[in-house]
Amino acid sequence: MNCTLCLGYQREKNRCPGCLGPDTKEKPKHCITCAIKNCEKRVGTYCYACEAYPCTRLKRLDKRYRLKYGMSMLENLDKLKDEGSDVFMASEDEKWICSSCGAALCVHRERCLSCGKPNPRFIIHAKA
Ligand code: SF4
Ligand code: SF4
Ligand SMILES: [Zn+2]
Repeated sequence: MNCTLCLGYQREKNRCPGCLGPDTKEKPKHCITCAIKNCEKRVGTYCYACEAYPCTRLKRLDKRYRLKYGMSMLENLDKLKDEGSDVFMASEDEKWICSSCGAALCVHRERCLSCGKPNPRFIIHAKA
């Protein structure tokens, strides 16, 4: 997860320090206790070096994010592995920029938090 795209990270009040930041009171409990973040099988910072990669738990999270937010955790991890974090973050900055005001879009919101322009990656599911 690129936490800079997260609503918890982008909100002005009680800003979350991100998955790799300290476990402060601003970080939601489910992110502190996250089974993927705390997985003992991980080698290094990211999951891609794990012998079980991509495990079922990660695939489930990836699917949820692909279907709901137009973002793939597995694609991110493969990019991180192949290109390194600097190139990955530079491509993320380009990919998630609001074309109207230049702010970083929030993956969890249908519209840019700064100017209200639609987030083109957000997937709106019709109500049944
Ligand atoms: S709420 Fe979770 S996913 Fe979002 S920035 Fe914080 S740690 Fe990252
Ligand atoms: S790929 Fe799955 S099993 Fe491996 S470190 Fe990540 S969460 Fe753990
Ligand atoms: Zn905007």
